[in-house]
Amino acid sequence: MFASIERVPGDAILGLIELFNQDNNPNKIDLGVGVYRNSQGHTPILQSVREAEALLLTRETTKAYIGSHGAPDFAQHMLPMILGEQSPVLAQQRASLTQSPGGTGALRIAHDFISRCLGTDRRVWVSNPTWPNHHAIIKAAGLTSAQYRYVDEHNQLDFSGMLEDLQQAQAGDVVLLHACCHNPTGFDLSQAQWQQLLELIRERQLLPLLDFAYQGFGDGLEEDAYAVRLFAEQLPEVLITASCSKNFGLYRERVGAFVAIAADATQMETIRSQIAVVARANYSNPPAHGSAIVATILGSQELSTLWHDEVSQMRQRISHLRHSVVDALKPHGLDQQFTCFTEQRGMFSYSGLTPEQVTHLQKEFGIYMVSTGRMNMAGLTEHNLTYFSQALAAVCR
Ligand code: PMP
Repeated sequence: MFASIERVPGDAILGLIELFNQDNNPNKIDLGVGVYRNSQGHTPILQSVREAEALLLTRETTKAYIGSHGAPDFAQHMLPMILGEQSPVLAQQRASLTQSPGGTGALRIAHDFISRCLGTDRRVWVSNPTWPNHHAIIKAAGLTSAQYRYVDEHNQLDFSGMLEDLQQAQAGDVVLLHACCHNPTGFDLSQAQWQQLLELIRERQLLPLLDFAYQGFGDGLEEDAYAVRLFAEQLPEVLITASCSKNFGLYRERVGAFVAIAADATQMETIRSQIAVVARANYSNPPAHGSAIVATILGSQELSTLWHDEVSQMRQRISHLRHSVVDALKPHGLDQQFTCFTEQRGMFSYSGLTPEQVTHLQKEFGIYMVSTGRMNMAGLTEHNLTYFSQALAAVCR
């Protein structure tokens, strides 16, 4: 039976890592993989996480199941972080949180919930480009996707194209949005643009699904939640998927959350019962360790302060690098061409480089990025910045 199964190509980024590891160039730089790196090129365990884990080791009393919605204290701390301490949505008990295995798990629950409870005859609109796994998850849930424009040919945010395309959506269609730090482009909407989009979504009766994977990596934990909170407060029904992979550095622990906001508390309880069924059919219960770390940090004044500092440090390092790259490109006369670096937010940048230029950087300079020209800014350091800008100047000549 297996003989007729076709082999599929491996993940492009994993292939890139393999090539990078085999490269003997002592100056090689990995800008491909999507994890945060510090100035030494490491993805460290946050100090707040280490201290929370030490506490957990003494406090934990059982490894029994935590239930399909996950740990109640995780939800109790995550909801205000996502929706705001003073959120009217929380006061009205309209929000349900289900702990999930990472943001990916949350996205899978979200789409299975849509498919199971709202039907498969609605489309899910995604940005072009988007994180490739969005397409895979939508398909796996039996739904179909449609694309809205997001970047124009000058490598700028194409907001008018986005609105024009979303005018084609049917009532009941889902719009998947990157709440902040768009992956792969780094282009985010301004507050005025979010408000304009909100009106379109309201008018056309669309269901927004906000993918919130990088809270704290853009302008700050509160600032990055602007779109999520605006939509949650202004619309009766909103879906949100959150991830603790980046902001807590808990990538491999698989911690995330699916938040569903309903028109009132009764409807919230009803959809919450359905979400439990969706989670059960996928993996029954989420893993406990990562969410216990998050709940321990957010539940302690001291650890929470430490964690806020650590998130700020990660954010500021990326922001500093974005400005440093443009400064380093000035002597080469390329600072104007790459102002996008400082306009974009989060770890990723759509550089506007062509696939040929990306190949040139890889072959001649040992600089690795995705063929679309997406680069992980956190792969740069104070030490490789000059080399990087010289290489960029060489391929842009
Ligand atoms: N959404 C987006 C836009 C992402 O970039 C990622 C991670 N690369 C995720 C969701 C999923 O994150 P996680 O590792 O928590 O599953």
